[in-house]
Amino acid sequence: MATYTKPSDYPVNHPLLTGVLAELIAEESFAEGRRETAFPCLMRYSDAGKCARAIALERILPVSEDPASIDVAGEYRMWLGRLIHEHVQASIIQTYGGVAELTSQLGQATDETAMAAGHADWVGIIDGTELGRICFELKTVGAFAFDQAVGLNRKAYQRSYPHGPKAAAKLQGALNAVANDCDTLVIGLISMEAVSIQLAEKVEMKGLDRICAEWHYERSEFKEWAIDELERARMIDQELSAGVLPPRIAVGDEMQPIHLAPEKVQSDTGVPKDWQCAYCRCRDACVRIGPGIVALDALTEKTG
Ligand code: SF4
Repeated sequence: MATYTKPSDYPVNHPLLTGVLAELIAEESFAEGRRETAFPCLMRYSDAGKCARAIALERILPVSEDPASIDVAGEYRMWLGRLIHEHVQASIIQTYGGVAELTSQLGQATDETAMAAGHADWVGIIDGTELGRICFELKTVGAFAFDQAVGLNRKAYQRSYPHGPKAAAKLQGALNAVANDCDTLVIGLISMEAVSIQLAEKVEMKGLDRICAEWHYERSEFKEWAIDELERARMIDQELSAGVLPPRIAVGDEMQPIHLAPEKVQSDTGVPKDWQCAYCRCRDACVRIGPGIVALDALTEKTG
């Protein structure tokens, strides 16, 4: 049996052509800078579940604190997600009518600032169903997140326990659904990688099951999520008003508070063990500031 050790089978160190699109997308996104919120607000709906300290730091740190390096892969992934969103939204409107990108706000932080604001992927009514006014929250996800949500173990070639959408998606959808006075929250996941035909047949996944899944939540369930997340936003606001930086607490997959520690890193890579910290734009500042309760007055020295 031949072994594939030819030097020409190793990828080159830097793709010359294949990465051009991703690099252009990332450069354009970086030049645009931070994106505006739908309304002046303390937190975006898309911040739902995020670390309280990160939400606060993003509001108070100068733009110059943004990482100097461009996350090409991350920007490309977001661009792909946006592309899929736009096409799905257009298809839904063509099929059912309704409105996409509906902006709204919730709560009052100051006279001019809402507690939270954002836009719903789609809001509308589908005749012939009993879902009432629907708020649709769409997420594009990788194979790992998709498998966890629907309950699939690709390695073992079998079904597993479904975990449903992530808490962040539920909270974001709940805020949109409450703000738009909806009766049903529909959360949809589209996988960036289809389940293979062989595996799908073995575990009896049919047609669309290989690429997407959907969950429906009634108002009695999602309203509680929105109330809790708005309460968290209120606490962040109160802490900032009291001159204190909120603690490093995010919402976990079971809707429970989780304490983060960016200082705890993988010994071999130096990357934080908490994924929220690994992806956090404020990580450098957060580590400089240190854990615990920190007065905002002390931040100028600590963030340089
Ligand atoms: S680095 Fe981690 S703990 Fe610090 S702000 Fe970011 S997510 Fe929160």
